[in-house]
Amino acid sequence: MHSETILKYADSSKKKPFKVTKDIIKRVVTELVGEEALPIVYFLRGKTFVSEFIVAEDLNIEIHKTRNLLYRLLEKDILSFRRKKDKKKGWYICYWDFNEHNIPHLVDKIRKEKLEKLKTRLAREEASQFFMCPNACSRLDFESAIESGYHCPECNELLRPMDNNRTKEFLMQRIAEMEENPLAF
Ligand SMILES: [Zn+2]
Repeated sequence: MHSETILKYADSSKKKPFKVTKDIIKRVVTELVGEEALPIVYFLRGKTFVSEFIVAEDLNIEIHKTRNLLYRLLEKDILSFRRKKDKKKGWYICYWDFNEHNIPHLVDKIRKEKLEKLKTRLAREEASQFFMCPNACSRLDFESAIESGYHCPECNELLRPMDNNRTKEFLMQRIAEMEENPLAF
């Protein structure tokens, strides 16, 4: 199949809803923030409005480190927070929520970025042609090959176009797989 066909197919792919599982949460958090943030997300899952001091205390993570992870999760829209004034102490405390409803959107975002990279790579493979000496002394791009009259600058052997069909096929296959499966990311 020609790649344009697959790209066209890719763009018209349907989004299927899916259930957010612990495994999906794990993959999204690991991809966007890192494995070290997982305990916080698991801890907040199913809870609401949790003080950052409780997060730090229950998970036995130092408060500065806890805050750092919380803000990194916030940046990626995995968590959100609300501030509330502590009546006794007079200062504000952040209370955190896990945006579980946002996970499918994040999965989609990660997939789109990865697909975009694959498509760019495929386009590059399709746009450029390389030539190689059968004696393996040189590998030239299209322009250099024309300049040397399609002969090897080292041994003067006639250059052969390099076959990148397997690379292209691999990329096309990967793109098609990702488009078919809403959980491939
Ligand atoms: Zn040569």
